[in-house]
Amino acid sequence: MRIALLGAPGSGKGTQALMLQKRLGLIHISTGDIFRASVKSQSVLGEKAKTYMDQGELIPDPIVVELVIERLQKLDCQKGYILDGFPRTKTQAEALEDTEFGVEIVLCLDVPDEELVKRLTGRQTCLTCGHLYHMTSSAPKQAGVCDQCQGLLKIRDDDLPDVVKKRLEVYKRLTLPVVTFYREKKKLIDINGHQEIDQIFHEILQELTREQLK
Ligand code: AMP
Repeated sequence: MRIALLGAPGSGKGTQALMLQKRLGLIHISTGDIFRASVKSQSVLGEKAKTYMDQGELIPDPIVVELVIERLQKLDCQKGYILDGFPRTKTQAEALEDTEFGVEIVLCLDVPDEELVKRLTGRQTCLTCGHLYHMTSSAPKQAGVCDQCQGLLKIRDDDLPDVVKKRLEVYKRLTLPVVTFYREKKKLIDINGHQEIDQIFHEILQELTREQLK
């Protein structure tokens, strides 16, 4: 199955993608994770990406498209994939559609704006293992310290309030057209992302089963 998860920043794409990866055994590709790893390793790509990410802007399409298409051509994606954070513009969606491994099902996580802001501004990530915490729903046992590896927790630069505002604005301007694009192609399934994590996952699995039975 070739799946893409769409949704605003903070809609829970990453969480659901990981749960789906475990359940379906498909490769999970998060462009945000790839770019954060390149920033951390101070690679040439990372240097370029950081400027855009810190400002809540999208990285230019040609860079992202090349990276993702190259990744999808690898053998481990032949059984399918879960894309998380791609495509984010109509150009990216069209580029993916032009390959022989275009997406079959697009899950769109719908979450109200006020809830997104609440979620994004309360997040902290472990600097060592990348584990994500939320100060209201999944706080670490000890403030500022990762439960998994004892690493230090930090608010992501792009989760600072001004940047969050910008990221939501960019989502509406550039990514909502992608939602329309897939809706017109009848590949889009709306998922209520404003429920408990397990409930969202249950809804997603139900929808995927329904699609497979078609
Ligand atoms: P995310 O963790 O998916 O919210 O991504 C974090 C940041 O990485 C975004 O705010 C963008 O700057 C960049 N990024 C991730 N995926 C893409 C994409 N498909 N196109 C452009 N920029 C992206």
